[in-house]
Amino acid sequence: MHTPIQAPVNPPHRLLMGPGPINADPRVTRAMSAALVGQYDPWMTETMNETMALYRDVFQTENEWTFLIDGTSRAGIEAALVSLVEPGEKVLVPVFGRFGLLLKEIGERIGADVVTIETEWGQVFTPEQIEQAIVAERPSVLAVVQGDTSTTMNQPLEDLGEICRRHGVLLYTDVTASVAGNELRTDDWGLDAVTAGLQKCLAGPSGSSPITLSDRAVEKIRTRRHVEAGIADGSTAGPGPVIRSNYFDLAQIMDYWGPQRLNHHTEATSMLYGARECARLLTQEGMDRAVARHALHGHAMASGLAALGLELFGDQEHRMNNVVAVLIPEGINGDAVRASILSDYGIEIGTSFGPLHGRVWRIGTMGYNARRDAVMTTLSVMESVLRAAGVSVVAGAGTATALEHYQDAA
Ligand SMILES: *Cc1c(COP(=O)(O)O)cnc(C)c1O
Repeated sequence: MHTPIQAPVNPPHRLLMGPGPINADPRVTRAMSAALVGQYDPWMTETMNETMALYRDVFQTENEWTFLIDGTSRAGIEAALVSLVEPGEKVLVPVFGRFGLLLKEIGERIGADVVTIETEWGQVFTPEQIEQAIVAERPSVLAVVQGDTSTTMNQPLEDLGEICRRHGVLLYTDVTASVAGNELRTDDWGLDAVTAGLQKCLAGPSGSSPITLSDRAVEKIRTRRHVEAGIADGSTAGPGPVIRSNYFDLAQIMDYWGPQRLNHHTEATSMLYGARECARLLTQEGMDRAVARHALHGHAMASGLAALGLELFGDQEHRMNNVVAVLIPEGINGDAVRASILSDYGIEIGTSFGPLHGRVWRIGTMGYNARRDAVMTTLSVMESVLRAAGVSVVAGAGTATALEHYQDAA
């Protein structure tokens, strides 16, 4: 059957206040429409090097190997794990939400011996709990999520690098949801491999995964071969077991981003422009100020929601600045309320996964939408839909509380 499609893409107007993706900053989408240039053009080389430098600031690192993986955030996760972990090697994953389960699944698919420790959703681990598991399991790699959007929790990482070094363990972390909205100090905290995505606090669309690698991580990756039958391409990988992916072979991707510029994939040039603009905007603002902005608007949103009588979910001491989960009030159909918020007001909020599906709504204030007007609009709409659903709410309580929060912070 042939269906003639005549209309151009024309998406509805939406304010994306869920756990991601968010509305991209218009400066980022504008950058993405810039003209394409060949990938070995000297101007492209320059642009790629600038992008590497910008992401060193974003990740707060001096790591030479800071670049982009083409694909969504999980492309970065897969690239890191498949390149760092040899088949049969042990990986420890502390699971405190859905994205810990994703690390476990990816680890298993690449042939790692994955062991997990678990905590209740809505909590994080203490460094002692993680160190005990390292001592008991002796893994090669600790793979841990920083901010797990499924529960809104932010796992403290600052003590883990030192623990991992003491036990000879490499530390990988997924900071997709947390970077730029919460403190992240790659070098100070001794993180060996860190990956992200653009569609949360970086204010871009999904489709590029920034990554940074410590010297220890690069050393390990450089021991891995590219192909079963030796290397004929002048690349710098060693004699170890072959990396079981071509697309995500970090040894090859480093040779592509590095001074040799060996061919690997065709650069996703428009995504590169977008990723560069995300980092440029953030470094212009300053990473500490970006985190403070997310804290300001995230707390305004959370206090406004609480003033509407909604109970905040999880350990609030360890909540990410940029997303909050609230328990759906007893007797309310959470999905029907979300549908009304979308169709009547053009605002998207989220529910969650697994044990939290249908139990919580998740509301984000991230990236381009970490703004006062977005917070105030969302709180007004939440009040209206709660009242329409039969929940008794104090008129104007959410917005008044948020405004007070802004005044106190000024
Ligand atoms: C949102 C999120 C992702 C997203 O992965 P995609 O491949 O871009 O969909 C990954 N990890 C974490 C922790 C996230 O919160």
